[in-house]
Formats: sequence, C-alpha cells, structure tokens
Amino acid sequence: MNQDEIGTITYPAHGNLYLNITNRCTCNCIFCIKNYSDGVYGHNLILSREPEVREVIEALGNYDLSEFNEVVFTGLGEPLSRLDEVLEITQWLKARDVTVRIDTIGHARLQYPGRNVAHELKKAGVDEISVSLNTHDEATYDELVQPRMYKNAYGSMKDFSRDVVNEGIKLRFTVLDLPPVDIEKCREIADEIGAEFKIRGYGGPVIN
Ligand code: SF4
Repeated sequence: MNQDEIGTITYPAHGNLYLNITNRCTCNCIFCIKNYSDGVYGHNLILSREPEVREVIEALGNYDLSEFNEVVFTGLGEPLSRLDEVLEITQWLKARDVTVRIDTIGHARLQYPGRNVAHELKKAGVDEISVSLNTHDEATYDELVQPRMYKNAYGSMKDFSRDVVNEGIKLRFTVLDLPPVDIEKCREIADEIGAEFKIRGYGGPVIN
C-alpha cells in the first residue's frame, strides 16, 4: 500500500494519532473544513479511495503507538460511515492496549437502524466518543449542520449519545462558538445527558 496514492490515513498532532478513513458524511455542515480547506495541520485529508482495514493497520504499524495519548477516528468525514471497519481496527488497537476515541456527528442510530451501535462500540473496546452536539436546538442544527440524509437527526444524535452513556463509554459533546449557537444551553444539555463539554476552535470564514 502506498499512502501517497490513497492520501493521508494517519496524522499525529497534540500527542494523539488521528485516523482519516473516509470522506463520506451524513451531513453538510456550513462550518466544515472541507468548505475552506482540504485538511488540517498541513495534511491533505482528501482520500483517492477508502483504505482497507489491512491498509489502515499497515499505516498504524509505522508508529510506536505507546507514544500517543490516544488514537482517534476523525478526519475529513464521518468515521462511523465505516462502522464495521472501525470495530475491527478498534479491536486491533485494544489488543495493543491503545486508548481509542471516536469523533462523530452521532447519526449512528439512523445509519444502522437494526443495530445497537453504542453496544457494539463498547464491546470492541472504544474508550471515548466525542459527539458534535453543535447546537442547542433542532432548528439551529438543521440550519448549520444540514443533515441532508435524515429527518430528526438532532433528536437521534442525542438518543445515540444517551446510548453511549448507558453503555459506560465516556462521552464528550463539542460545539463551535458561532453566533447562532447558545453555548450555555448546549452546556446544560451536556450536563443533562452526562457528557463532558468542549468548545472547538474554528478557523473558517465568518458565519453570522
Ligand atoms: S460532520 Fe464533520 S465531516 Fe461531516 S460535514 Fe460536518 S464537519 Fe464536515
């Protein structure tokens, strides 16, 4: 496998190792990096194709994983668009005692209606899930996140987040400090559901 040919699958930053395994997503956030850049930290995250599990593991093999705080499924796309691959790679990482986090938009209940995704992630050994709460209500969510594939995506995202807590996986909510977003209401939602709370940085064009 030639990572140059596929694109950036792994990239280190902030003491973590980040995984970029898909460019597919369930929404079209107006603040998405892909609207104003092709990557982060100097890495181009546009993939020419999705890497196979063995290619991701091969890329992970280039590092001493004990040097990182955690390995994080994130990148320019929704990692849980590839749930089965995420489960398999997580099992591989947990067999090596690596801490695993998934950054997600949280639409897994809609993507996989016949499956208990939070339970499967728990069984695979996922340590933490960071859900992009993004907004304090559905109307603002639909405006900023544009979940083009699903109705009631906001409510489903919160239900999935409750699943995560019920499975005993650490949950974090993140938001961007944008003018339409009521940060304090978002913080209250995090408290109510049992999530840690983080305000993400935003380096894109002005959003009013
Ligand atoms: S969920 Fe993430 S990858 Fe998908 S459109 Fe929103 S910001 Fe972009």
